[in-house]
Order: sequence, then structure tokens, then C-alpha cells
Amino acid sequence: MLRQHTNVMSAFRSFLLFGVGASMVDFSDALRTVLAHVQRLQAASVPLGEAVGLALAEDVASDVDMPPFDKSAMDGFAVVAADLHAAPRVLRVVEEIPAGAVPTRAVHPGECSRIMTGAPVPSGADAVVRVEDTKPGPADGETTVVKPIEAGGNICFRAEDVARGDVVLRAGHVIRPPEVALLGSCGCARVPVFRRPRVAMLSTGNEVVPVDRVPAPGQIRDANGPYLAARLRALGVEAASLGIAPDEPSRLRAALAEGMQYDALVVSGGVSRGDYDFVPAILRELGTELIFESVAMQPGRPTVFGVCGRTVVFALPGNPVSLMVTSELFLVPALRTMLGYREVNPRRRKAILAEPVHHRPGRLAYVPGILSETESGWTVRPLPYHGSAHVAALSQSDCLVVLPAEVAAVEAGSPVEVVMMTGDRSV
Ligand code: AMP
Ligand code: MG
Repeated sequence: MLRQHTNVMSAFRSFLLFGVGASMVDFSDALRTVLAHVQRLQAASVPLGEAVGLALAEDVASDVDMPPFDKSAMDGFAVVAADLHAAPRVLRVVEEIPAGAVPTRAVHPGECSRIMTGAPVPSGADAVVRVEDTKPGPADGETTVVKPIEAGGNICFRAEDVARGDVVLRAGHVIRPPEVALLGSCGCARVPVFRRPRVAMLSTGNEVVPVDRVPAPGQIRDANGPYLAARLRALGVEAASLGIAPDEPSRLRAALAEGMQYDALVVSGGVSRGDYDFVPAILRELGTELIFESVAMQPGRPTVFGVCGRTVVFALPGNPVSLMVTSELFLVPALRTMLGYREVNPRRRKAILAEPVHHRPGRLAYVPGILSETESGWTVRPLPYHGSAHVAALSQSDCLVVLPAEVAAVEAGSPVEVVMMTGDRSV
């Protein structure tokens, strides 16, 4: 009876410890769950210079025509095109119009104005002849145009790009450097965007030391803290470092509690089933609802995702490759969702496998690879890969080869799916 009771208690304890979330969830269910629990953040207004990487919270209209006036596209002479049907033709130069000036003279038949690129075309003129198609003289104040030109030649017409009041960018559009130029032209000195998430990150592990230390026996340098900082910075997110916490419940509790003040908390390590893996239990103690604690993927099985009030929590496995893969596949899409992006997942493409790969079947696997474009399409070369700790392999790679859970080996020449780790949507 007692033994039975003990068994029940231990089953109950392991249920409490690992919960229903401890059962492995499929990768696609896990991703869907993460994205369902994160939300676009509030709208804010930021200076134009800080808007790159953010998504617009409102449509933006131009307050000016673009170009704002009929503008010369060349350095040359503003002319009446009909004068030049029988070029060469000598024209009298009535004015010089540098960029930034306003013409004071109309151009009549037989006349022209010297004009610079970007200057307003004077009334009466309907084309600009390039300076290369003219020669000075014969008399002072004259120029000889050697080639005919069509009406409208070398003029950018007022509002031909954008008319005043036109919506130039829609809400949700992600601002890249060209959009910064456009917004600047529209007078958008402050930009309505969805604000950036505030993210905290914590490395855990008794053995983990800062990068500026020479590791003592048994120690290892913190690869994950600097990685996450760099990865998030590439997304435009400056993460707050909560440092490195040892595997001691009280220290972990304090650091994790601090992390709950952010929109997202990212934890490295302490999530497996080892005797010192306290992170999930402490997260739960702090009021975090752990939504899943294990994903059927390799690397990355002990990936923990939870929600604590307004904070989403990603507690990722400490092995650097596992952490990189899970942050790319779960954390980054979640942060992009918070940023208001519509496309949040890394790009995938089909490629032909250049060399065979093997893996232990049972879990969806991601193997680092190098993509290259050949005449017959994209091929991917898997990198020699020793497992979750092999950070050197990922530093050579630009993609992950996806190996379905049920297959143990994929032959060279087979079509495979790859997840892009570089390129526009990897940042
Ligand atoms: P854990 O997820 O805590 O069980 O750690 C798994 C493995 O990753 C162990 O070999 C750790 O030493 C290693 N590891 C944990 N955190 C880091 C880190 N921040 N940088 C580099 N390696 C780490
Ligand atoms: Mg650890």
C-alpha cells in the first residue's frame, strides 16, 4: 500500500515537474503555439534615423509632389523641341539656372536656358538637350545644338513618381534603407511604427564563464550570451544582458524574476533533465505557464516556451548549436511578430543534397549546410557535424538542411528542404 502510494506520489511529482508540456510536441505545433502567444507591440513614433527594421503602424502619405516641379534630368540646355527638327541649330542663351534656383525667364522659339541637373525647367521649354549634344557659340551668348530631341526629353515631370497626398507606404511595411529615403522625401521626420520588444537574456551554468576569462578546468566560455546579443542586434533589438547565473535556485530565481520585467526573456541552459537543470521549475514557481517543454527536433529537444504575465519566456538548450537553431526557428519569428512583421519565419528553399547525410531517426533534424547556386539549381553541402555543441560547424554554414523525422539517411542527389540562415529575412 505504502509502495503504491509512493509510486502515485512520484508520478504526481513528475507530472508537476514536467507537466503535460513535457510530452514532446511536433516542431510545427510548437512554432504555431509560439506565434499564437505573441502579439504585435504598441505603436510608437520614432525618429526617422531609428526606424530601419521596424514595421509601419500607419499608412504614410506624401506631403509633396515628387518631383515637386518639372525638373531637368541632365546638365544641358532647356529648349523648345520643335526648334530642333532641323538640328544643328543655333539658339540664344537667355539665362543660367543652377539647381536650387527658380527660372526668371520663359524660353521662346530660338532661345534656350543653360540648366543644371535638378533645376526647374523654365516655362516655354519642353525638353533638355544634354551639354554633350551642344557646342558653344558661334557668337557670345549662343549655343549650337547638334542633335534633335523629342518633347519631354530629359525632363522629370512634377508628381510623376508620387503625387501629394498619395499613400507611399502601407501600415505593416517593414522599413529598410530605401524606405528611409522615401519617408525622408515625404517629410516623415518621425515615423509611426510598432515599437521594438524589450528583451532580456540570461546565460546559466556553473561551468559558464565570461568570454574575457580563461576557462579553468571544467569551465567553458559563454558563447550563447554574445550570440544572442549579436543575433538580436541584427534584428534591431538591443537585448539587456542579465549576465551568467550559476545553477543555484536562489541566484536563478533572482535573475529570472528580473527578466520578467521585459517583453521577452531568453534563457540559455538549465532546461534538460539533469540534477542541476532548475530553470523550468523556477520559471513555474515565478508564475510562468510553461506551454511546452520539449520539441521533437534535433538539435533543440529541451526547448521550453512559457508565458508569465506580459512576458514570453524562451528557455533554450545551452548547447550553442541547439540554441542557435531554436532561436532562429522560434525566438526570431516571435520577435518579428512583436515587431509587427507579416513574414516572420526564415525563408526556406528546395535544394539538391550534394553529399549523403545520416541521422538518428525519430526527430525532425536540422543539419548545418552550405548552399550554392549551380547551373542546375541550388545545391546544399551538409557540413561535418558532431552534434549540438559543434558551434564551429554553424559558423561555416549559411543554412540548415531539414531531415524528416522518419528517415535515417538521405542520399546525395536527393531533393531536400533548407532553412536559410543568411539573407534578408535572417536578420
Ligand atoms: P545545458 O542546456 O545547461 O544542459 O547545457 C548543455 C551544454 O551546453 C553543456 O555542455 C554546457 O556546458 C553547454 N553550455 C551551456 N551554456 C552555455 C553557454 N552559455 N555557452 C557555451 N556553452 C554552453
Ligand atoms: Mg547547464
